[in-house]
This record gives sequence, structure tokens and C-alpha cells, in this order.
Amino acid sequence: MLRTHNCGELRIEHVGTQTTLCGWIQRRRDFGSLTFIDLRDRYGITQLSFNEEQNAEMHETARSLGREFVVAVTGNVVERSNKNDKLPTGDIEIEVTELKVLNEALVPPFTIEDDTDGGEELRMKYRYIDIRRRKVRENLVLRHKLTQALRNHLSAEDFVEVETPYLIKSTPEGARDFVVPSRLNEGQFYALPQSPQTFKQLLMVSGMDRYFQIVKCFRDEDFRADRQPEFTQIDCEMSFVERDDVLSTFEGLIRKVFTKTKNIDLGEIPILTYQEAMDRFGSDKPDMRFGMEFCHINDVAQGEGFGIFDSAELVVAINAKGGNAFTRKQIDAFTDYVKRPQIGAKGLIYCRCNDDGTYKSSVDKFFDQDALAAWAKACDAEAGDMIFVLSGNRGEVVNQMNELRLHLGTELGLRDRNEFKACWVVDFPLVEWDEDSKRFHALHHPFTSPIAEDRALMETDPGSVRANAYDMAINGMEVGGGSIRIHDKKLQSRMFELLGFSEQEAREQFGFLMNAFEYGAPPHGGIAFGLDRLAALLAGTESIRDVIAFPKNNMGRDLMIDAPAELNTQQLEDLGWDLATKKGS
Ligand code: ASP
Repeated sequence: MLRTHNCGELRIEHVGTQTTLCGWIQRRRDFGSLTFIDLRDRYGITQLSFNEEQNAEMHETARSLGREFVVAVTGNVVERSNKNDKLPTGDIEIEVTELKVLNEALVPPFTIEDDTDGGEELRMKYRYIDIRRRKVRENLVLRHKLTQALRNHLSAEDFVEVETPYLIKSTPEGARDFVVPSRLNEGQFYALPQSPQTFKQLLMVSGMDRYFQIVKCFRDEDFRADRQPEFTQIDCEMSFVERDDVLSTFEGLIRKVFTKTKNIDLGEIPILTYQEAMDRFGSDKPDMRFGMEFCHINDVAQGEGFGIFDSAELVVAINAKGGNAFTRKQIDAFTDYVKRPQIGAKGLIYCRCNDDGTYKSSVDKFFDQDALAAWAKACDAEAGDMIFVLSGNRGEVVNQMNELRLHLGTELGLRDRNEFKACWVVDFPLVEWDEDSKRFHALHHPFTSPIAEDRALMETDPGSVRANAYDMAINGMEVGGGSIRIHDKKLQSRMFELLGFSEQEAREQFGFLMNAFEYGAPPHGGIAFGLDRLAALLAGTESIRDVIAFPKNNMGRDLMIDAPAELNTQQLEDLGWDLATKKGS
């Protein structure tokens, strides 16, 4: 080893020992005959001191060192006269007796500080330097702890990690596939997996019983904020289970991860049906850190002569507790917020619950005090609260109110990043009708089974069939999802048919799975969690890019290695591509 200690390790009890440290120059301070250098490595920062009187030549060299030079120093650990209580090593410094420059460095394009002056694109281009920053490094270490906790827990629960191939045939999971041309099979392509879904099901047919894999998945989606074309799933599958077995197994996993990485007990995770989640929060991934649940007030709001309410399919309110303190200006800002084109409400109606027990609404012309008192009763509102109301077409209003609820939650400081609330959402619709293609689409994927008691509805009213599927959401973010699968060939064929596959298409694409179902497929189900999202949640960051070592930008580019890029002529020729047009033959 070139070093005896690391830069985060030495303490007051090491005073008197000799040490050799290696690292990068974080900062240099010159005070005439004395020079101090902060030496940094992955573990921390240690102060070095150089004294001209003791060694003039070395002092001169120390003064010439630039930021990020790599050096090795040997010296004595001494107590600092000027202690720094912000650094774990702040009680000591190294009086350097030997200095070796291991490598020089150009001036880095941004400062290696917590609050750096580098913009995101620049930091992505020089990600290897960005990772020297404490925050980024700590995120990667946290991610490591997370995967370690996952692996340990799942292994202890008899799950076996099995690798499945990356070069496969397209599987429909709702997104576009990335494809890889095959040189040996000209004109044919592999697809990169959107998930190992069919493989993990085949592993159940193989009798592996409990499988997991921390695995890269690839989806070629159009520009969407905070999406990566490649991302990591914690992919899991189990045999001989029903829904509640899967939920309790993975509730255990997620709770373990939170205690191991954050020392937080998530508590029991409540289960909401999809319908309930939509009715109470207007979202299938509700943020459960705060209440402000939807109050359906059609009964009390309609029939009073206010046309907008009377013609609405849904009149929905929320009670912002203590919101009577909102100023006119704040209310205007909320109104502007819901009227933004992305949200699309026509307006926002409010009713103040004054401290003296009276009410003041934006529709006083239509609603007298008694009518407003009925709203308040329906919303469980009391003096000091504020009721907000939206109305219109059900689907739209529910979305708009969800947005408003989240916005108010943020404004009222109810969405603390250090607090974590999880929930399960179950009984999603199996399929949804797509007007454009005039077909049903699987809401989850085609391998999800319907709830047994809804099976017959597949023939009469497919849109109302509930899937035996579940998602987990934490703090309003979907972190995982899965289902009990179809394991019966007939039902799987019926499902493909419902989704508009001809018999031949189904056979071509999924013949292997249907064949497997004829060789003793056990009942099985599973789930996949988004590792990047979980890591981002635990790290308290908004963006999954912060927890990925080498992320791509929003256009799917890796700015550091500059990918994607063109191929050279030889590569194109090998693939049988037309060199003039650079198109496949
Ligand atoms: N393969 C699914 C997905 O990627 C997860 C699952 O059903 O287990 O969403």
C-alpha cells in the first residue's frame, strides 16, 4: 500500500504516530513561511502543514501544488492549535516530512465543493470529477448500502439471484424497445429487455421458487423529465403465493431497507384499493404524509342555482386546515396554479371558515351561510380552515384536485423529505380502452391475472375487470409494482386475444411462454422495485440522476463518453448496412 491511513481516519489519539496519506489537494492556504493543505480522499479531509524553516525546498514544492494534484505525504500526527470542529479529523494535522507528487492535474472545470459552481451538464461531462464531491460520493455509497441490504435480506429469505439475458426478443411492457442488430443473422435484431418479466416467470416454471435480480432494464421512451433510458430494477418472483403473501414478503423487504439505511421504521404499510386511492386522493400513488383528503360534495353543492356546479359530474373539495390565514394573493396564486395549461382547471372556488364561525366564499351570490355551513360539515372544516372546490368532468377534476392537493401540501410544509409514508395500491383495472388504436391495453402487462371473481367479466365488460396487481408508493412516488400472474395457457391466450393479438401473433411472440405453461407451471407472482427511485428517496434528492454513477441527460445522451455515436464503416459493413445511406439492407 502507498498509504498507512486514509484522510478521514486520524484523531487526537493518533498524535505522536507517523503516517503516510495519499489523496487530492482540496485547498491550499499560504501564510508566509507556513503553508496548509487540505488533503482529500473518499474518507475525508486531513490538514497538512509545511514549514519553510524546517524544509525550505519542500515548502516551496508545497506552495506550487495546484488543486486536485495527487500527492503522497509522510509526516507526524500533531495536535492542532487551531482546531476545526466541523471536521472529524479537525483536532490534528500532519507535519509533513516527505512529499511526493504522484500526478499533476488540470484546474478542474468546477469546484469540488458541496455547493459547486458547476452546472448539471458540465458536471455530467466531467462526472469522474463530480463523483469526488462529497454529496455525489455519499449517494453512491448509500446506493451500495441499499443493494447490500436488499441482497442480504432476500438471500436470507431463500431468494436466489439469477441473471437473465440482455439480448432478447421484444416483450411488450408499454414502451419502445432498444434494439441491437445481429451481425451473424443479418437483418435480424435482438431487443434489450424492458424487464426480465418472461424470464422470471419461466424460472418459476423451472421450480426456482424464489428469484430476484438487481438488473438493468431498457426503455426507449420519448423525452420525460427524470427518466433514464437504462435504469435498475430489483426484480423478484415467487411461486405458490397469493397476493397477500407477496405484499407481506416485500413489505418486510422495504421496511428492512429503511431501517438498515436510514434507521427509520416505516411501520405497517396500509393497503388501499385503486378505487379508494382515486376517491380519497385522486391518485394511484397517493402521498400519505398528509391528509387533506377529497370530500365529494355534489350533494350539498348542487341544486342551489350555481350552474357550474349543477352541470358538473363531480364537485370535489379539500379542506386546507388552518388555511384561513391564506392571503388574497396566495389564493390568486393557487388559482393561477390550477389554471396552468398542464393542469387545466377553469377556476378555483374557495370558502373561508372565519374565526367567528361565519363563512366567506368566492360564490357568496349563490350560497348563503347555511349552504356554506353544509360544505364545511361535509369537509369536516372548522373555524380557521379554508375549503377549496373544483368541479367538472370526473376524470379531469380528480387529476386537477390531486395536483392542487400536492401543491398545497408543499406550500403548507406538509411534505417533509425526511418523513416517509408508504402505501400499497391494489385492484387496478386489468385493461384500459385506447381510443386511438381502438383496442384494450393491459394497464400493467399482458401476464397479469384478473381477480378470480372478475374472470367472467372479461367476456362481458372487460373494462371493469380488476387485475390482481399491486403498486407500492412512498411519498407520492411509485417505487414498485407487480402482480399475480396468469399461469394457465387458456387464460393467457384469452388475455392476448382481448389485447388484440391474433392467435398467430401471440404464438410468434410468446409461444415459448405458452408452451412452458403446458409443462407444469406453478401459480406465481412477483414485483419489481425501481432501485434508482428508492435510492433517490433515501438520499433525499429529487432526481434519480443524483444516485446513478454515470447518468444520461434528458435527451438520453451520455455527455461524458458522447454516446450515442456513429459507427465506423467497418462496423456498418459487418452489419450488412448500406454505407451510402447508412441504412440497414
Ligand atoms: N415486470 C414488471 C415491470 O417492470 C414488474 C412485475 O410485474 O414484476 O413493471
